[in-house]
This record gives sequence, structure tokens and C-alpha cells, in this order.
Amino acid sequence: MNDEPQRETLDIDVVFVGAGPASLAGAYHLARLLKEHNAKAAKKIEISIAVLEKGKEVASHALSGAVVDPRALRELFPEDWRQAPFEGKVEHEHEKLLWLTEKRSLSLPIPPPLENDGNYVASLGKLLRWMAPKVEALGVDLLFETPAVEALLENGRVVGVRTGDKGVGHDGKKKANYEPGVDVRSQVVVLGEGPRGTLVKQLDAKLDLWAGKNPQVYALGLKEIWDLPAGRITPGQVIHTLGWPLGDTFGGGFLYGMGGDQLIVGLVVGLDYKNPYLDPHEEFQRLKTHPDIAKLLEGGKMAFYGAKALPEGGWWSLPRLAGDGFLLVGDSAGMLNGQRLKGIHLAMKSGMLAAETIFESLVAGGATSERLAAYEEKVEASWIQEEMHEVRNFHQAFDHGTLAGLLQAGLGLVAGGRGWGFLDRLPTTPGHERMIPLNTPEGARLHPAAPVAYDNQLTFDRLADVYNSGTAHEEDQPVHLHVADTDICIYQCAVEYKNPCQRFCPAAVYEMVQDPASPTGERLQINASNCVHCKTCDIMDPYAIITWVPPEGGGGPNYSKM
Ligand SMILES: Cc1cc2nc3c(=O)[nH]c(=O)nc-3n(C[C@H](O)[C@H](O)[C@H](O)COP(=O)(O)OP(=O)(O)OC[C@H]3O[C@@H](n4cnc5c(N)ncnc54)[C@H](O)[C@@H]3O)c2cc1C
Ligand code: SF4
Repeated sequence: MNDEPQRETLDIDVVFVGAGPASLAGAYHLARLLKEHNAKAAKKIEISIAVLEKGKEVASHALSGAVVDPRALRELFPEDWRQAPFEGKVEHEHEKLLWLTEKRSLSLPIPPPLENDGNYVASLGKLLRWMAPKVEALGVDLLFETPAVEALLENGRVVGVRTGDKGVGHDGKKKANYEPGVDVRSQVVVLGEGPRGTLVKQLDAKLDLWAGKNPQVYALGLKEIWDLPAGRITPGQVIHTLGWPLGDTFGGGFLYGMGGDQLIVGLVVGLDYKNPYLDPHEEFQRLKTHPDIAKLLEGGKMAFYGAKALPEGGWWSLPRLAGDGFLLVGDSAGMLNGQRLKGIHLAMKSGMLAAETIFESLVAGGATSERLAAYEEKVEASWIQEEMHEVRNFHQAFDHGTLAGLLQAGLGLVAGGRGWGFLDRLPTTPGHERMIPLNTPEGARLHPAAPVAYDNQLTFDRLADVYNSGTAHEEDQPVHLHVADTDICIYQCAVEYKNPCQRFCPAAVYEMVQDPASPTGERLQINASNCVHCKTCDIMDPYAIITWVPPEGGGGPNYSKM
């Protein structure tokens, strides 16, 4: 008997998946272009546009730094972009780049491309909450608690998306509140799912989106917001750190001053590290024990925590951006400048270019794959290309260590972004393949770092941090972390990498627990309800056997105040 439920079909002409800055900018721009067109054209174009978001409300899953380059905002909202809820404008005298050792810091000159003079410290959550009513006012439907779980493909064309079921128990059985997801049929699906998108991953498996490109590589960003004693920091203050505690691992710290005496403190850790013992969450906690940072935080209180992946591969890691019935925007496409740690403006601009492509296709008679392909050309001809091409070899150079990476960053400045040997394109390997097995001579020399003492004032363990992320899921639902073969965990991974999922997950989801019934005495326990949707496990598992799928709509972190 076929267990597949009867699904309703919903026709929505253009569907944006994910309500991040890329999709909101895209939906707004498309709706406005259509409104302007319809005001003067004899032949009007009446279409429906919707944005599907898995979070409970606007920005519940939005996590960023953030220092925002206002370039895209200026283009999108020329009249009122200055009214955006910025925390403070960055001024040169309030910006620092520090090289840290365990006890000391050295102030470095800030190279021009890294200067933030004229940018704004902002809360991405507040920015999205400012944008959302503008998008809705143009007739776009924002549908929350609505994860897209599958891209619907017919004869090689994406014809829509399936949304997630509600009311399924942990055993897969339908509960009293069961509601099947719907099949949304569309002319165009715009994938703005953020990093490591679920639907993007599905389409890549079927359509080989990264053929001929560098693989995407990622970093994990961890962040806390602190309430500080009055007057301790200036809104718009920006401090970036390099060096300790990460050493030769890609990444660095960031501290941004917000209004209301709040400070953002965070650490970015490359998800291409070699030592399986590395624990990004612990390194973040260690960063705060540096005398300079501890002094800044003294007497303050941690208010919010979050963690999320970001794409770091850059220009050469951009996949095919357009296909039959679909476009990729923002972090889903990898549009982030890793050297500047900035993606919001690129995400917004890519959404706008996607909107222009769709608009022109509709005016020309329909969104054929040939017409949608013009999106790639638009990106190539835009300032996205100018900015990303200039730093196209930035991340690859860090494959050879921090010093090599910094030398390349310097060389890139004078060689128009070329890599050493004046190569136009340096290669890279997927980050999870770089972890060194511990049962090899090289691996035997690796050790865990000294543990951090958690005092619940300056430093917090994972569970305390997860509590401050506001994460909540419906408990009785299928586990949304799919591990293809748990025998690998107990027989192979335990020996080769000592189950690094327990360390790279910043939310204590994965735990190896004693179990006399297991042949090795241990089994993997998945505490799925802690998951903050960062996607690290899907990216960094050395055997690539973990698949993150969207849980029931509305579950996850609550970042709306971040
Ligand atoms: C710690 C950290 C610090 C950063 N600092 C900065 C900074 O200072 N400046 C800067 O410019 N950039 C910064 N970035 C990068 C920036 O946040 C991203 O480039 C930007 O948010 C990307 O926007 P997006 O719309 O592509 O994706 P996202 O902002 O990730 O939004 C994607 C949305 O899609 C939703 N979604 C995902 N999958 C589905 C699905 N299947 N169905 C429905 N909804 C789905 C998610 O819940 C989310 O709301 C930082 C990132 C991190 C993690
Ligand atoms: S389970 Fe995966 S996606 Fe969820 S918090 Fe842990 S690493 Fe991130």
C-alpha cells in the first residue's frame, strides 16, 4: 500500500526559499520592478511571490556579525536606507586589528581592504525585521514555519518545492495534529537557504552544480552578545583578532560595539582544520579568557549565544548559479568575501540580480532556462564579481597555514588577486577531507588542547550557551540529523578520529554514550532538540555520512534579538 499522503498543490509563481537578506532583497526588488512595470505597461504581469522560512518568525534563524557594507542597502532602498536600524557607524579611530598571543596583544596596521570606515555595526535580526514589512507591503507573502524539504524536479526542470510535514512522531507515525506538507508549483525557485542549503545539496547530487569549480569550504562562526556596564564600549567599535587561540587553523575573533551597551564577541573557525581534537566552541570560550578581552567583558553578563556556518571558498567555489527553473543567491551560492568577513551586501545584491533576471524573463514571455542563465552574466558584470574576484585566492592559501595565508593576502593586494606563481586560480580540497586520522604517525603527534575551566561568568559550556540561544524543537518528531551508518561511528570513527562530532557541534547534539548492548560498549546518541541549525555536522563529518534535514517548521534557535 502506498503510504504517501494526499498533498495539496499550491501555485506560487516565484518562490524564494529562506527569509535571509538575499531572499528578502530579491523578493522586494522583484515586486517593485513589477509594480513599476504595471504602472505604465499596457500588458500587465500579475504574478504571486512568496518567501518560505523554516523559522517561527522574521530573523529567528538569522545569525551574523555584523558589520554591514551599506552598498546594496543604498541601491535597494535609495530613499530611506539611512533609517535602517544600525547600531553605530564605524569610524577609523574606533577600529583595531590585534595579533594575539596567550597573554599579550599587538596592534597591527589595518590594510585598506579590511578597513570598515563608513560601514555600520548592525544586528542582522533587526535589519531583517525592518525589511520584512516593506516586502509584505508590496504584496509578497512571507510564510513562516514552512521549511522547504525537497526540490521538485520534472524532466530536469525544477518546478517547485515540497514543504515539510507537521505532526509526525519520533517513530514516523502520524500524530493527531498531522498535516502533510504541500507541493508548491512555481515558475522559478530562488534558493536563498544560507550556507549548505538542503535543496542546493539535493540539486547538486542530481545536477552536479559544482562541476569544474573548486569545492565549497566553510567556517563556523560562534557568537555571544554581552550586556556591559554603561559606557564600556562605543557603538560602532570594531576589533578583529588574529593568532591565539587558533594558531595555524584558519579564523579569527571579532568584537563589535552595539547600542545599549551591548558587545558582540565571536570567533570564526575554518571547517578545514586538521586536528580532530579541535573544539571550536571551546576555542571560542578560550578567546574570552585573553586578558584584553576578559577585561572588556568584566562585570558584564552574557545575554545571547548562536553559531552558524559561513561559506569561505570565494569566487572559484561559486557553483553554477542558474539552472532550469532555479537560481542560487547569497550564502547558498557562496557569495561571501572571506577576507572582509562580509556576505550581507553580496547576498542582497545577488537577490536583486536574481529579481532583475526573473523580471526580464517574465517580460520576455516566461522563465525559460536560457533566460534564467542571464543571471550568471549579471553577476559577472556586477560589483559582486569585482569584489570577489579581487580576493579569489584568499582562502585557498590558508590550506598551507596561517603564515602562507597572510602572505597570499598581501601578495593578492599587489598582484590583482593572483595566487603564488601568479596562478589565477589556486585549488582547494573539501574541508572535511583534511582531518588527519589519529591512528597514523602524523595523527599520533596530535593532542587535545588544555581544557577550559567553565565558570558560568566569563566562560560557558555548550549547554549553558544553547540555553542562551533560545533553541526549542517539538520533542516528539523524527530526528532531523540523519547518520547514514552508525556502525562507522563505533567501529571506524572512534578509532580514526575519536568521534569529532562531539567537538565540532557547538550545541552538544552528538554524544558517545556507554551502552552494554553495543558490540563496542558505546553508541552514538543524538540530542536533536539542542540543534542550532548551524550545519557544521553536514559539512565537517570526515566520512560525509551526516545529512541535516529541516525539522518540523518553527523549531530551532531564536536569534531574533541577535
Ligand atoms: C558569525 C557570523 C558572522 C558574520 N559576520 C558578518 C559581518 O560582519 N558582515 C557581513 O556582511 N556578513 C557577515 N556574515 C555573513 C552573513 O551573515 C551572510 O553572508 C548572510 O547572512 C547571508 O545571507 P543569506 O540570505 O544568503 O542567508 P542566511 O542569512 O543564512 O538566511 C537563510 C535563511 O534561510 C532559512 N532556510 C534555510 N533552509 C531553509 C529551507 N530549506 N526552507 C526554508 N527556510 C530555510 C534559514 O532559516 C535562514 O533564515 C557572518 C556570518 C556569521 C555566521
Ligand atoms: S547537530 Fe549539526 S547543525 Fe545542529 S548544532 Fe550540531 S553541528 Fe550544528
